Amino acid sequence: MEFQNLLDDIVGSIKPHLGEGNVANSIPELAAVEPNQFGISVATREGEVYSSGDSETPFSIQSISKVFALALVLACDGESIWKRVFREPSGNPFNSLVQLEHENGIPRNPFINAGALVVADRLLSVSAGETNGVLGLLRDESGNAVLQVDTGVAASESRHNHRNQALAHFLASCGNLDNPVDEVLDAYINQCAVSASCTDLALASRFLAANGARRDGAALLDPHQTKRINAMMVTCGTYDAAGEFAYRVGLPGKSGIGGGIIAVVPNNCAICVWSPRLGSSGNSIAGVAALDEFTSRTGLSIF
Ligand code: GLN
Repeated sequence: MEFQNLLDDIVGSIKPHLGEGNVANSIPELAAVEPNQFGISVATREGEVYSSGDSETPFSIQSISKVFALALVLACDGESIWKRVFREPSGNPFNSLVQLEHENGIPRNPFINAGALVVADRLLSVSAGETNGVLGLLRDESGNAVLQVDTGVAASESRHNHRNQALAHFLASCGNLDNPVDEVLDAYINQCAVSASCTDLALASRFLAANGARRDGAALLDPHQTKRINAMMVTCGTYDAAGEFAYRVGLPGKSGIGGGIIAVVPNNCAICVWSPRLGSSGNSIAGVAALDEFTSRTGLSIF
C-alpha cells in the first residue's frame, strides 16, 4: 500500500484512542496543549516525505532529544561515554532516583533522565561553547532553519525540576558530572524544550535509517554506531514500557512526554507520530497505537 493512503487511513482509525490517557503535567506548560491532536510523518531513506493529520504542528520534543544528544556525543567523542553510562533497560520510570544510588551513580542507560544528564554533560564538554547542539543537528537534518527552543516550556521545566536537580546533584556527588550542575541542567532542559513537528523529526531521524548518513550524505555516525543507537532505542527508548512497545510495534523507538515518538525502520524510513495524551509510562497512547497499525499493515518491523 502507498504510504500516503496508509497514513490517511491511520489518522482515521486512530480517532477512538484520542481521548485515552492524560497530557504530561510534570512540566506545567506542557499541559496547555490541545490534547486531541494527532500527526504522523514518514521520511524515507531517499528523502521522500509522507504526512497526515497534525503533522506540521510543532510540539515539545522532550526526551526524543536524548537520541540526538547521544548521536552527537558518539560522533564527536567515540565510545568513552560508556565508562559513565550503562546500556541496560532500567525497568523503572524515566525519572526514577532509586536505581542510581544502588548503582553508584552510573545510570542504567542514556535514555532515562539520569543517563541523559550525563550525555548532556559530555556534549557540553566536547562541543566547545555550543550550548544546544541538538537544536543545530535538528535544524540541519530537517532542513528547517527556524526550529527554536520554546522558552516558555524551558522556563516551566526550570521552575519544576526538583527530581532532575536531585539526579544531577547525586551524579555530581559520585563524580559523574564534569560541568557545574546548573549548566548541565540548563543544557538538558533546553535540548528537551526544542519544538518541532512530525515532519521535522521524521526528516531529522533519517540518519538512523540510513546507516548514519546525514542529509548531505556525510557520515554523522558509522553503520555500527547507528546499529547500536537503534538497539538501545529498542531496549530503552520507551522506558519501562519497552517490552510492550517491542511487542506491539517491533521497531526502535524513542518517546517524549510532549507526546511524540520517533521510530526507525533500518535501511528504509524514519517515522514520527505525535499525540499529547500519555499512558502511565509516559508514552503517547495514540502514537503507540498508530505505530502498531503502521507495522502490522506494512510488515515493516525488525522482527
Ligand atoms: N524534560 C523531561 C524530564 O526531564 C523529559 C521527560 C520525557 O520526555 N520522558 O522529565
